[in-house]
Amino acid sequence: MRIGVIAIQGNVEEHVNAMKRALKDAKYEAEVIKIKHKGIVPTCDAIILPGGESTTLGRLMEREGISSEIKKAANSGIPIMGTCAGLVLLAKHGDKQVEKTKQPLLSLMDIHVNRNAFGRQKESFEAPVDFKGLNKPFNAVFIRAPCITEAGNNVEILSTCGGIMVAARQENMLALAFHPELTDDSRIHHYFLKMIG
Ligand code: GLN
Repeated sequence: MRIGVIAIQGNVEEHVNAMKRALKDAKYEAEVIKIKHKGIVPTCDAIILPGGESTTLGRLMEREGISSEIKKAANSGIPIMGTCAGLVLLAKHGDKQVEKTKQPLLSLMDIHVNRNAFGRQKESFEAPVDFKGLNKPFNAVFIRAPCITEAGNNVEILSTCGGIMVAARQENMLALAFHPELTDDSRIHHYFLKMIG
């Protein structure tokens, strides 16, 4: 099994390490690789889209030819996890800011997003959130975090924070407004591993 982390920009190393830790705990064997160029996504069994800056990430992925490969993989059922900027990119619908800058989205999940719902860097925070399927709250780290403002019937909301939607699943796709890779708690990476099977 091979898990690819899109390594164009953002929290790449943290995701690689968190995934390796989760694999070790679960006693699964898998290769975790960084994807910088076209041609690698089709060789992966799962893809992680890290946080960073969705504008930059989206544009660079498109320029590299990685975006179309991710869309193809997602549509063929390959599990994809997007965190923070990754959640923004997975969405079909952006907010006014997204429209204004014409940033490219992957348009895979039936969700509307607010790109900077929780304010700037200095408004970053941690909060315990309930997460469907986990028996105890998850300490979620929010950094310039987006949120989900609307979701289609085919989208399952997994977590809210103060009534705001911050995690969702649509079939093989998992979107999180926060950063599970920045905590020692591997439960969400385990959840994703179960999606991979
Ligand atoms: N709000 C940022 C964006 O739209 C994402 C922030 C993050 O990934 N930490 O790009």
